[in-house]
Amino acid sequence: MIDLHTHSLFSDGELLPSELVRRLEDMDYSCVAITDHVDSSNLDFVITRLVKVARDLNQRQSVKVIHGAEITHAHPQLIEPFVGQAKELGGRDSYSSWRNHCRACS
Ligand SMILES: [Zn+2]
Repeated sequence: MIDLHTHSLFSDGELLPSELVRRLEDMDYSCVAITDHVDSSNLDFVITRLVKVARDLNQRQSVKVIHGAEITHAHPQLIEPFVGQAKELGGRDSYSSWRNHCRACS
């Protein structure tokens, strides 16, 4: 199984990324994307930490961790610059989503 849309406590999730991944590993998941909510206030904080934890976990756990971000409540004209910033920070897997496209959060 895979889940390409999860959140950690870096936004509105409840677990550290490593605990989220450990729980998914116990449920035989093979891949998870951690895509916490970001805007200009926390984009650099979230992306740099997700890149680091994904690198660490991918060396040691069976679940493939993909780092990403869910750009939330951003004006449409700001989405492209935010995606560019996320990519510069190493968030090559980042994607954007308008607020009502997030089934888990709407
Ligand atoms: Zn979401």
